[in-house]
Amino acid sequence: MNIVSAAIYPGSFDPPTNGHLDIITRALYLFPEIVIAVTDNINKKHAFSLHERIDLLQKITKKLKGVKVTSFSGLLVDYAERINSFVLVRGLRALSDFEYEFQVALVNRKLNKKIETIFLITDQRYTFLSSSIVKEIAMHRGDIKKFVPQCVVKKLKEKYYISKIIK
Ligand code: ADP
Repeated sequence: MNIVSAAIYPGSFDPPTNGHLDIITRALYLFPEIVIAVTDNINKKHAFSLHERIDLLQKITKKLKGVKVTSFSGLLVDYAERINSFVLVRGLRALSDFEYEFQVALVNRKLNKKIETIFLITDQRYTFLSSSIVKEIAMHRGDIKKFVPQCVVKKLKEKYYISKIIK
């Protein structure tokens, strides 16, 4: 029997939300270690730098045992091979997530047949929640406290509230 010691939770986390944190917490019931792998993709425009996203993830997971925050560029399957970890965790919110996630999971397995993707279905409280929605609300100075951890609220306010005053 193979015991999986670590699973990878890849994503942009731009910024991390309570939905991400819920997936991380629940994945820790299944695996002793979760390696959060933040995408470092120069072709994708992020609101927060890689350093900021890593820093926020480290802050919000500091009380959880078994979480490692890392980053990767290039193909996720190559990163998985490098760290010798072949289970990927992804969150599913709605049917709209499914089609894309299904395609990516199949491609990843085609690229490396050792890769297995596990989907965790979102908690009902977070079905609507995404990093983009949170940024949109922050841009309009809406109340983001319910959607993201406190340190992320602070960061979003610094980015969107203050820059709006200066403009
Ligand atoms: P990506 O650009 O890789 O989709 P995201 O940071 O948007 O990166 O998402 C990372 C993972 O977290 C994805 O599997 C996504 O479906 C999942 N996720 C994002 N928001 C939620 C949420 N509210 N509930 C459950 N899973 C979520």
